[in-house]
Amino acid sequence: MRSFLTVLECTYCGDTLSADSPQRLCEECGKVLYPRYDLEAAAAALDREALKGRPANMWRYFELMPVRDEANIITLGEGFTPLFRAERLGAEMGCSDLLIKDEGVNPTASFKARGLSAAVSKAKELGIAKITMPSAGNAAGAMTSYAAKGGIEAFVFMPRDAPESNRKEVAITGGDLSLIDGLISDAGVMSRARAAEEGLFDVSTLQEPYRVEGKKTMGYEIAEQLGWTLPDAIIYPTGGGTGIVGMWKAFAEMEEMGWIDSRRPKMFAVQSEGCAPIVRAFEQGTEFAEAWQNAETVAAGIRVPSAIGDYLILGAIRESGGGALTVSDGDILAYMGLVARLEGMFVCPEGAATAAALGKMIASGQLDPDERILLLNTGSGLKYLDLVEDPL
Ligand SMILES: *Cc1c(COP(=O)(O)O)cnc(C)c1O
Ligand SMILES: [Zn+2]
Repeated sequence: MRSFLTVLECTYCGDTLSADSPQRLCEECGKVLYPRYDLEAAAAALDREALKGRPANMWRYFELMPVRDEANIITLGEGFTPLFRAERLGAEMGCSDLLIKDEGVNPTASFKARGLSAAVSKAKELGIAKITMPSAGNAAGAMTSYAAKGGIEAFVFMPRDAPESNRKEVAITGGDLSLIDGLISDAGVMSRARAAEEGLFDVSTLQEPYRVEGKKTMGYEIAEQLGWTLPDAIIYPTGGGTGIVGMWKAFAEMEEMGWIDSRRPKMFAVQSEGCAPIVRAFEQGTEFAEAWQNAETVAAGIRVPSAIGDYLILGAIRESGGGALTVSDGDILAYMGLVARLEGMFVCPEGAATAAALGKMIASGQLDPDERILLLNTGSGLKYLDLVEDPL
């Protein structure tokens, strides 16, 4: 197998950079870089039917992944997560074709495993020995887990009030943890300062080009698991937005390779009422999103006041004919219970937010209940035990 990676291309100005030396953002305009592939050659080399015999993890799409030498892959078995029919939740909500992709079964119990497996593997391939990151929670544990597996030193800057599970998984996997009195944006400032001082490579989401490649594999998997078709709508809990833009990228790549047709799901970004910069920008019709002040929500993974990929997220949801909406923390907690009781799935609050958003959109008529609708449960509720009532 070989990767058909070619160059890094700026998603804003189109400038290109080498994919064989460490890069972060576009040197011309400071925006997000995407890895590009020779898709024609990839399609000639890889028949999608041949995927059937490959291991059930995200590296099954190796030709479309950014690591050139398989020996550099650092894997804990991430990806190829199950896609379930949610019949009982669907019946409760009046939906006839509701699906849930359960990212909670990933290593480190969230889909951050995908992005960090890709980024840490590529860092290893590029000879990077020390990495750093600010994280609202799950990304940190994923980074330090893959760094541990790959023998790379990892530094984490995290808000002091991040979930206990995230603090502990960083500590037990040997990450160098700094707890910050502030938000993820404040943690980012500290991480960048430390990176500059000590020559650490910053793997903040969409500020290095490879995490998105891990998360895009959700798009490949959804297509493969649905027999190379896509659902009518995808509802995604949006923080930095890497997953939603990653899936959007995957759909374009698959169409170019002739694996799917030109139909796209309507993409819906869900945020919490207490932190909704993308929803506000969507409603105001702007290209970029202003930073959100005093961000507050129980769903730590989407407590992201500003996203460097804002224009990519807004572009994808607009182009898809989807939308952006908020849900309340009260609804998030109520839906965690509802999904657990009806589907047996202990979803994270971010995942519950997608179900709450679906409830709102069915009630308002924004979504047709007979469409094929897919919810992404991005992590396991077991990482958020403090949000759940204790029967003791
Ligand atoms: C990080 C995170 C999100 C948000 O993901 P983005 O791709 O950055 O928008 C959602 N849910 C969970 C559980 C997360 O950890
Ligand atoms: Zn640029």
